[in-house]
Amino acid sequence: MKLHATRTGYFCLLVFCSSALAACQEPATGLAIDNVTVVDPVTGAAEKQRVVIRDGIILSVSDQADSVERTAATLDASGHFLIPGLWDMHVHFLYEPALRDGMADLFLDYGITSVRDTGGDLIQMRALAAELKARSTPVPNVYYSGPLLDGRFVVYDGGDPGRPKLGTGIPDADTARSYVAQLAEAGASFIKIYELVSPGVFEVLAAEAREAGLPIASHVPLMMTADRAGPLADSMEHLRNLELACAGNWEALLAERQRIIGSFVEGRGYDLRRSLHSLQRVPAIEAYDEARCDKVLGSLRDTIQVPTLRLNTVAIELPFDDADWARALSELPAAVAEAWQANADQMRRNAPLADTTFSRWSQFLIGRLKHNGVPIGAGTDTPIGLGIPGWSLHTELAQLVAAGLTPREALHAATVVAARFLGLEQEVGRIQPGMRADLVLLDGNPLEDISNTRRIRRVMLDGIWVR
Ligand SMILES: [Zn+2]
Repeated sequence: MKLHATRTGYFCLLVFCSSALAACQEPATGLAIDNVTVVDPVTGAAEKQRVVIRDGIILSVSDQADSVERTAATLDASGHFLIPGLWDMHVHFLYEPALRDGMADLFLDYGITSVRDTGGDLIQMRALAAELKARSTPVPNVYYSGPLLDGRFVVYDGGDPGRPKLGTGIPDADTARSYVAQLAEAGASFIKIYELVSPGVFEVLAAEAREAGLPIASHVPLMMTADRAGPLADSMEHLRNLELACAGNWEALLAERQRIIGSFVEGRGYDLRRSLHSLQRVPAIEAYDEARCDKVLGSLRDTIQVPTLRLNTVAIELPFDDADWARALSELPAAVAEAWQANADQMRRNAPLADTTFSRWSQFLIGRLKHNGVPIGAGTDTPIGLGIPGWSLHTELAQLVAAGLTPREALHAATVVAARFLGLEQEVGRIQPGMRADLVLLDGNPLEDISNTRRIRRVMLDGIWVR
């Protein structure tokens, strides 16, 4: 097998070499990773490969014995495994101020070369993006949405200590139109719609974003069902509110929510949402109707589901039970590590009392998504819910596998699916000629054991080893 990028520079060099031997004395450029097992998220593993990288791009992937390119540098990677750079599809740089500046480095440490920031104040997010761009040290690719586009009431309105202002209110269609234009102008890569938005505004936001070329990430708005909102969006987050659509009595539940939200005239968006979840979530799961749910999921074959399974199951798959937890936590600023450990200790005490219905249902639903051909993306919601930036993606991959994905499918969720959301699937996410050289070299085969994604030897960003 021999694949070649159609890069003009390469072919010019070939022509020049054959016509004038002297030109071949020109110093070779680029880098080769020799004798490596390439683990592509679509085609699987190929042993004894030579991957040549030049100008930040994968130039060729070929059997070691067939490769002829001269390169300035080679790395013998015998016994190692090369995967595409990972994505975390759901992060919040602005949720925990003490982590704001350190998250980018942590992502690279853990082989995450691209992230989607799925909600934060627009001005602050723009400032952070500019700061990251100006750094002299490498940073991962950051794609951001700006704030959670919410309804007349806003869940994350910034009114409580410890819960930052991540959302903004979009009360009507005119505001929706001007706000999407503002987001596009500010450099947002996509939009994020939240739970208290009205169905009419949801539709305008989706249409305007489509028009502006911005992909749409969304929660299922509480006044809609997943099969109505989902097909208008490109990704949906947390599997949240899907349970409301999968219930046999979904119509009665929806009517009840619409009535409660419609008559809510005073109070906090956060409390409104919480009261609806406590009222309907568990009863909906208890009224689960598989035929109805398959119909709902059947409408989502073009809408990526980002389950954030590790977040949904934080009460039963306790992150601090992981043997590597203490080490990973120690890399956070001391005050954060201390607060999180106190939080973890309290969670351990409360764990026996926690309602596990939604956690178990989330795990169960992974199999139903797979059965119905719904695309799954990997995201963590870090740093929310004890999600250590970077580290938590590896726990998410392990959980997706425990819930029924193959290791290859889990890698696919953290690479190809994420790139597809942003329309970048021809540029990044696989190990193929012409793709961006964002790569991770591992000490173990992730297809044999997904926890081998943690055994990171080196990380490459844009063709340069950065770790
Ligand atoms: Zn989130």
